[in-house]
Amino acid sequence: MSVLLRTRQLAISYGGIQAVKGIDLEIHQGELVCLIGANGAGKSSTLNALCGMIPAAGEIFFQDQTITGQASHSLLRKGITLVPEGRGIFGRLTVEENLLMGAYIRRDRAAIRQDMKKIYELFPRLDERRTQAAGTLSGGEQQMLALGRAMMSRPRLLLLDEPSMGLAPLVVQRIFATINQIAAEGVTLLLVEQNAKLALQVSQRGYVMENGVITLADASANLLGNPQVQQAYLGL
Ligand code: ATP
Repeated sequence: MSVLLRTRQLAISYGGIQAVKGIDLEIHQGELVCLIGANGAGKSSTLNALCGMIPAAGEIFFQDQTITGQASHSLLRKGITLVPEGRGIFGRLTVEENLLMGAYIRRDRAAIRQDMKKIYELFPRLDERRTQAAGTLSGGEQQMLALGRAMMSRPRLLLLDEPSMGLAPLVVQRIFATINQIAAEGVTLLLVEQNAKLALQVSQRGYVMENGVITLADASANLLGNPQVQQAYLGL
């Protein structure tokens, strides 16, 4: 499998505080990889740096080309899309307008219409609520909308920050079923999750992050069986 994204000694600082201390990640084409760790480990910061939202030291390569220091809009054009923590929905816009915002870099109108149809098939609840203000949707529906909007940019690498946050277990199951579907369509995914069990169950490989460094990197099945991971993150 070819490497889609690679980081070398990626480091992120806020003022004098180093939140991410030189990490090496490697994500292959078509993989679903998770990044787990406690609060404040540096997971969100890592995702934000990978999509150009915050500056970082070290190097980032996408399809073997350096993308270090590039702005988020140019990374979006290359196919790197973030679904942020908290979802980033435009509450006053309708569901349909939010979805169209996801396609703002595209000019292929016919294909945009087709993709919109696909999103509505994937999320019938959004179809029923096309003209509803997005701010009035439930948390689970908003997460669906955030995923749908990201898909409208035709991502090659989708970065998901805590998709389960604040959602009831049944809703979380549905969101994760959809994440599986997106992966099955060939989109490469990097998933950050507090819910380590679910993240490891759905992914092929995982990284464990503690205090800004990667402490473990392995197949997710191995991490699920790792006593250290079980004790720290799986409550076993
Ligand atoms: P969580 O799951 O709680 O979001 P995380 O693993 O995603 O945790 P980050 O949000 O990346 O962790 O935060 C890593 C560290 O960087 C934390 O100590 C946090 O306080 C700090 N940090 C994050 N964002 C900022 C910011 N904008 N300004 C200053 N410090 C920040």
